[in-house]
Amino acid sequence: MSYTTQMDAARKGIQTKELLTIAEKEQWEPDKLITLVAEGKVAIPANKLHTCLNPNGIGSMLKTKINVNLGTSRDLNDLDLELEKVQDAVSMGAESIMDLSSFGDTRKFRRKLTTECPAIIGTVPIYDAVVYYHKALGDITAKEWIDIVEMHAKDGVDFMTIHVGINKQTAHRFKDSKRLTNIVSRGGSIIFAWMEMTGEENPFYEHYDRILEICEEYDVTLSLGDACRPGCIEDASDISQIEELVTLGELTRRAWEKNVQVIIEGPGHMPLDQIAANMKIQETICKGAPFYVLGPLVTDIAPGYDHITSAIGGAIAAAAGAAFLCYVTPAEHLRLPNAEDVKEGIISARIAAHAADIAKGIKGAKEWDHQMSDARKRLDWETMFRLSIDPEKARRYRESSKPEKEDTCSMCGNFCAMKNMNRIMDGEKITIFDE
Ligand code: SF4
Repeated sequence: MSYTTQMDAARKGIQTKELLTIAEKEQWEPDKLITLVAEGKVAIPANKLHTCLNPNGIGSMLKTKINVNLGTSRDLNDLDLELEKVQDAVSMGAESIMDLSSFGDTRKFRRKLTTECPAIIGTVPIYDAVVYYHKALGDITAKEWIDIVEMHAKDGVDFMTIHVGINKQTAHRFKDSKRLTNIVSRGGSIIFAWMEMTGEENPFYEHYDRILEICEEYDVTLSLGDACRPGCIEDASDISQIEELVTLGELTRRAWEKNVQVIIEGPGHMPLDQIAANMKIQETICKGAPFYVLGPLVTDIAPGYDHITSAIGGAIAAAAGAAFLCYVTPAEHLRLPNAEDVKEGIISARIAAHAADIAKGIKGAKEWDHQMSDARKRLDWETMFRLSIDPEKARRYRESSKPEKEDTCSMCGNFCAMKNMNRIMDGEKITIFDE
C-alpha cells in the first residue's frame, strides 16, 4: 500500500521504517505509537528526500527532543565553521538542527545538511526569501514566498517554520493591544512588515492550501510559527499571543485533514507561574499537536546567561507537556553564538529536557540518574565521567584540582561523606582527622 506522509501511513495502518526505528529507540510498541502518529500527537519529521535521516519522533509522551539553531549571517558567513558546529551539535545529542542562514549561498549549505546530516533538518523559508530574491522586501510577491517553501521541500528539509498565524485579523489585534516589545519573532516581524507595506493578506495564510499540497508531496512537517510570541515578561500570555494561537489551532485542523504533520511553536519570554497553564491551553486549542517551545525564558534580566533562564522555563514547559525544546545559548540577545556558546546551549537544553523526562516518567530517564548515583556512591570516577551529560567538563574539573586521597575529591577530602559512610556501613572504624 502506498502513502504520502507519515501521518497518512499511520492512518492506513502502515508501520514505516521510520516509525519502527522510533518505536525501538523509545521502547514503545509500534502498535501504540502508530495511533499517536495517526492522531497528530506524535510527529515524525522525515522529508522523503532526506535519505540519511536518523528519524526521531516528537510528542509529549516520548523523550523530549532538542533543536539547535545554526546558519550563516551577514556578520559571520563561514560555511565550514557552521558545518563544524552542526557536527558538534549532533555529537552532543541534538536531535534537530534548524538552518537559519540569512546570508550567502544558503541553498548550498541547506543541501549539504540534507545529504550529510542525520539530524532532523528545519528551516524558516521567510529568511531565505529575502536572501534568495535579493530585492527589497516589499517587492517580493506572494507567489515568490510560496515558491521558496517549495524549494526548501525539494531540498529535503524535514520541517519548516511558517509564520502563518499572523493574518490580518491577528495583526489588527496586535496593533490595537500595544505591547512593550512588539513582535520579536524574526520571521514574524518580516511578514508583518510585508503585510503593512503591501496591504495584502499574509501570503502563507492566503495560500495555505498550496503549502499543504507541497508539504504532503514531500512529507514536510509544518512548524506553525508564533510570530506573536511574547518577547518580554510583560507581554506574556497577552491577547496577541492567544489570538494567534487560536488561529494556529484552526490551521492544525486543516493540515491534519490533508495528512500533513504539525508542530506548534510556543513562547518566548514567560513568568514561571504561567508556563504550565500555557502548555495546557495549547494542548486544548491545538488538539494535542506537539508543542515546540523557544525557551521560555523566565526572566528578561540575564543576558549572557539566557541558556539558564531558558533551561528553567524549558524544564517546566516540557514537564507540563511540551515535546521539543529549542536551545538558547549564552549569546542570546547579544551576538551569533560561537562554538563554546553552542555547547553550553545544547548541554543546558539537554539538562532541561532530561529533568522533564524524569518528571514525566519517560522510559530510561530515571535509570540514567540511578546509574550515576550508584557510581557516585562507589566513588567510581571513570563511570561517573562516562555517564556525565558533559564528560569532558566533568573530567577536566576533577583533574584541575587533585585531592590528597585519590578516591575522594578536593571538595571534602577526608570528610568525604560517601567514603566514610561506605566504610561505616561496612563495619569499619574511621578517624577522619589523621587518615
Ligand atoms: S569529597 Fe565530598 S563532594 Fe567529593 S565525592 Fe566525597 S562527598 Fe562527594
